[in-house]
Amino acid sequence: MGQIKIMSDSLANKIAAGEVVERPLSVVKELVENSIDANSKKIYIALKNGGIDYISVVDDGDGMDNNDVLMCTKRHASSKLTSDEMLYKIATLGFRGEALSSIAEVSKLVIETCDGKESSCLEIESGKVLKNIRGEFRKGTAINITKLFYNTPARLKYIKNLYMETAKIVEYIRKSALANPSIVFKLSNDSKSLLETSGSGNIIKTIRDLYSIEIARELQELSVCENDFNLNIIVAKPSFQRASKSYINIFVNKRVINSNIIEKVILESFKDFLPKNRYPFCIINIGIEPELIDVNIHPNKYEIKFSKEDEIKISIEKLLREFLGKNSHKIEYVQKNKEMQPLNLIRDIDYNYSEIIEEKMKKKLINNIILEPTETYDEKKNVKHSKKLYEPIGQFFKTYILAQNDSELVLIDQHAAMERINYEKNQMIFIESKVKLSELVIPVVITLSLEESLVIKDNIHKLKELKIDIKEFGNNDFIVRCVPSWIETDFEKETIELIIEKILKSEPIELLDIKDELIELMSCKESLKANTMLSLQEMEHIIDKLFECNNPYHCPHGRPIIVTLSIQEIEKMFMRVI
Ligand code: ADP
Ligand code: MG
Repeated sequence: MGQIKIMSDSLANKIAAGEVVERPLSVVKELVENSIDANSKKIYIALKNGGIDYISVVDDGDGMDNNDVLMCTKRHASSKLTSDEMLYKIATLGFRGEALSSIAEVSKLVIETCDGKESSCLEIESGKVLKNIRGEFRKGTAINITKLFYNTPARLKYIKNLYMETAKIVEYIRKSALANPSIVFKLSNDSKSLLETSGSGNIIKTIRDLYSIEIARELQELSVCENDFNLNIIVAKPSFQRASKSYINIFVNKRVINSNIIEKVILESFKDFLPKNRYPFCIINIGIEPELIDVNIHPNKYEIKFSKEDEIKISIEKLLREFLGKNSHKIEYVQKNKEMQPLNLIRDIDYNYSEIIEEKMKKKLINNIILEPTETYDEKKNVKHSKKLYEPIGQFFKTYILAQNDSELVLIDQHAAMERINYEKNQMIFIESKVKLSELVIPVVITLSLEESLVIKDNIHKLKELKIDIKEFGNNDFIVRCVPSWIETDFEKETIELIIEKILKSEPIELLDIKDELIELMSCKESLKANTMLSLQEMEHIIDKLFECNNPYHCPHGRPIIVTLSIQEIEKMFMRVI
């Protein structure tokens, strides 16, 4: 009895800190959110040692008066929520009133602030005020944090990789800058400038500040205004593609959020336009009445709930599909490649994937697969699955080959079939190659985002161990001059990007897995797409090649290639048999 006690404020703050400030990134995020909420036009963030030794966030925002600065580090102290009803229409990034109190509990905090009239400097350690003096500061707020997590050592230990931590902070600041193009953001670590935006208010200029002119040139802006929300999307043509999802950004009322649902809509819309494991550049800005969202579902405020989710999904999909529809390009083979068309059969092959590899692939597709089978397949028919020798009878929806034998009708997914054929062909290439090194005639340049390049610089030995000769080349660029011979010609860039992606995700680099993923990637790129008219001869060729495969029934991604309808099943459908 009598064992239950109300916790001390200090203990409650430490517990809250566990959720709100779990790492340097979360401290930076909370401070930057406060600066944005204070209507700042400039926000400068300086780190030392990835934020572990020092974090400073300086803004030119509204500042605080002498009373407020004393209040701001108290638990549940906030100027942003003043009534219960306001919780249901939050228009600021912060509202929980627990960031500064949590940070103050696990670090040493110095706040200098001025609201234009009163200036003060407050020093706090372990939640205790050490100093509170008046001063003469310029308008705005500067918060310095040292000794982060000094009284919660377990948390310090958990932050193992400072490069990764810096990279995560860069990623967050980049996202904040994209969500707020009118604010100047500057970020440095150990006095080295990592990023800087001009605060011009123009999103394309901001993208140029953060990425490159090349990317900015590729972009298009799409917008729509619906009753309850509006959408603004900045998207690049599918020829711009990357091995990581880090070029997908989702903002709701300028809040950086994570949303699997919206991410899925983007990826689904791009599905037919990008190969597997390649991702688009897409920024989605959703402006919505604050009453229609709930941002109070997690202390870190990365997840939110929408009440118009379906409508938003449909609108995003519609805009992206329209954009992609306009940017898909049909190549008239008959016209462009007359001399290469001895069969003169392929019409209207729809190349939906990357423009960059388009030319390479066009040659491969014609020379290796459709018209002149490669050496591996040149030997006379070596049908592994003799059971079914189907005769093509037509094509449905320019996507499925219809074929029959004496007892069955089959539908063959032509894209999946070609993927399987190419997959097994590519496997052969890899099995046969010896580990030699090959000098590249044209070196490959890999461009990474700033945060990616930080991690890769720290892990460059992992690429070198694989005998990939990679060097830094300019700010976030890397140049590769020599690769091991198991990397297929013309796929050097994709292969290296795949390995880099594994490093970025801290996944183990298993050569066999990489080869496997690569074979899939190559096979998918080489395969003809659905929506391609085929002649009977071409269908016959595909069926023959398919049944030479070890596994003609499933594509490399595991989807079925062949669907069978037996004569009995068909007769049942027509009630000819019972
Ligand atoms: P919240 O942001 O949820 O209100 P915080 O603990 O992050 O809670 O901040 C407490 C209060 O301190 C804020 O409501 C705001 O009034 C004030 N504050 C914090 N940072 C700044 C800043 N950079 N400029 C002006 N006021 C600030
Ligand atoms: Mg806050």
